[in-house]
Amino acid sequence: MIDNNSVIKIGAGQARLSQDLLDSCIHCGLCLPACPTYLATGREMESPRGRIYLLAKWQEEGGELAPRAAEHLESCLGCLGCQTACPSGVHYEAILDQARPHLAARRNWLLRSIMRFSFAEILPHYGRLKIFGSMLRTVQLLKLDLLAAKFSGGPAFLQKLADFQMFTPMVPEHIALPKKSWRGGTKSGAAKLFSGCVMDVFYNHVNHAALRLLVRQGNIVEVPEQTCCGALAYHAGEDDIASSLARRNIELFESAGDNDKIVVTSAGCGAMLKHYPALLAQEPQWAERATKFAQRVQDLSQTLAAGKFPDNAICESKSAVGVENQSKAHIVYHAACHLAHAQGVRAEPQALLSALAAGTGAHLYDLPEAEHCCGSAGIYNLLNTALSLKVLDRKMKFIEESGADLVVTCNPGCMLQLEAGVKARGLNVKVKHLAEALDDACQ
Ligand code: SF4
Ligand code: SF4
Repeated sequence: MIDNNSVIKIGAGQARLSQDLLDSCIHCGLCLPACPTYLATGREMESPRGRIYLLAKWQEEGGELAPRAAEHLESCLGCLGCQTACPSGVHYEAILDQARPHLAARRNWLLRSIMRFSFAEILPHYGRLKIFGSMLRTVQLLKLDLLAAKFSGGPAFLQKLADFQMFTPMVPEHIALPKKSWRGGTKSGAAKLFSGCVMDVFYNHVNHAALRLLVRQGNIVEVPEQTCCGALAYHAGEDDIASSLARRNIELFESAGDNDKIVVTSAGCGAMLKHYPALLAQEPQWAERATKFAQRVQDLSQTLAAGKFPDNAICESKSAVGVENQSKAHIVYHAACHLAHAQGVRAEPQALLSALAAGTGAHLYDLPEAEHCCGSAGIYNLLNTALSLKVLDRKMKFIEESGADLVVTCNPGCMLQLEAGVKARGLNVKVKHLAEALDDACQ
């Protein structure tokens, strides 16, 4: 449990972290094999135990956080694999929540300003985001983005453009989601779709697929006015922006006037929306509303697994896996950290994929380290590109060895990271969101 009285949000300078949280770690090291940055580097200070030790030392000694310690903390993916693995119940997420604003306050002024501008002025405004998406698509269609790849190894600023190009999938033509959808027949439920910002720009078709699946199950689906969930801002330590977006989303969904479930296609957004009660716990006028809001939030896989496909629609289609001999196709599941570790949602995607495999004749295999982060982690792949690629290497090695034709996951960040891994290795592997795979099977 988070000790809310000791969660103090402050800027750079003296550590003021919850001593109880830090003391809950008994330094047993059982979390180390679950930590992707430890596995990639073999360094204690790149492990959860090492990072907790650094924070405890900082708190004890006082003064400014040492630059090396800050680097080790910045290189944490925030994947929460350690929290799942820890037998002592250390709430690593709460420790990280307290440390991140300190890290943000140390950031280079220009970088921080650009990040804050993006979090507050681009992502929450879907109109601006769509303009950005269209511009990017034009650049990609003209193949001008390939010029960025030539900057690889160049000066830092240009190198970032090359990194951005590497992790950016082709932006599809944006088709606006209908405000309300129902195909008639027996109504089994009602849902509000949370479309996300990154998801709706880069994987707009996933939201359309989710909407079709929900409607197929008899839901009346609305896509109400909404804004960015705030996850990218929060994970970057910009709590004021994240809180403001949380308050806005609560207001918008309350003003939609009912208590329908809020269905989310992006694991990262879902985890953030469910985290609103912790984020707003110290704001008396918001805490209860945040709790009510979070209780309505479901990952798409939870909604679909709880519902029924009336025509047994998962399915006989030959397009689900997208390979010639589907009965020999291999499917593996990469569990997004923000679904498995942050939300504890594991059984539902597995159940839906088992149904998909049974319906299509394809084979579903367990991917080794399926719950280990792929290295995407929001904008981590842009901020810590070298380590992100090392983490991705390990994931891709397992995917390649599994002989997978299709990798299914539930988060846009994982999709673009895995797609970059597939492209870099020239593999013949498709990466799909669960909604996309299920919807393809239902066509
Ligand atoms: S975080 Fe948990 S598993 Fe890791 S060293 Fe501390 S007590 Fe052990
Ligand atoms: S959150 Fe992930 S990267 Fe960070 S210490 Fe825990 S397991 Fe390692």
